[in-house]
Amino acid sequence: MPQTPQGPAMLQAKCPRCRRGKMFKGSMYSFGGNNMYENCPRCNLHFEIEPGYFYAAMYVSYAFNVAEAVVLAFITYNLTGNMESPWLYLAVILGGCFLLAPFNYRYSRVILLYWLSPKIHYQPYLDTDDPK
Ligand SMILES: [Zn+2]
Repeated sequence: MPQTPQGPAMLQAKCPRCRRGKMFKGSMYSFGGNNMYENCPRCNLHFEIEPGYFYAAMYVSYAFNVAEAVVLAFITYNLTGNMESPWLYLAVILGGCFLLAPFNYRYSRVILLYWLSPKIHYQPYLDTDDPK
């Protein structure tokens, strides 16, 4: 089996160490789907490295929200040409960020574990179909 590239593993929210096990129990928009496994079902990596570790994901999530607000405002302006009402922008941005919240929640944690966690490294020897 060839090794799993990082991109698809991140999109599918797979474990950053083995790129095989799922991090979340269900799909992004299903009820309870964003509950996380405590440990990787595949390589048993403990996802929450330290207590409260995922508070740091809030910073990533914040960056997501800022970027999404800019994009939504840009789209709104291009579709409506609105220069008068700030309420339209506010409504679109708040509504959009609300709808995107499950996405932000999931991928802020994925990015935290993949890119911002020096203690976690990809281990190709775990990324295999062979039993250990
Ligand atoms: Zn794993």
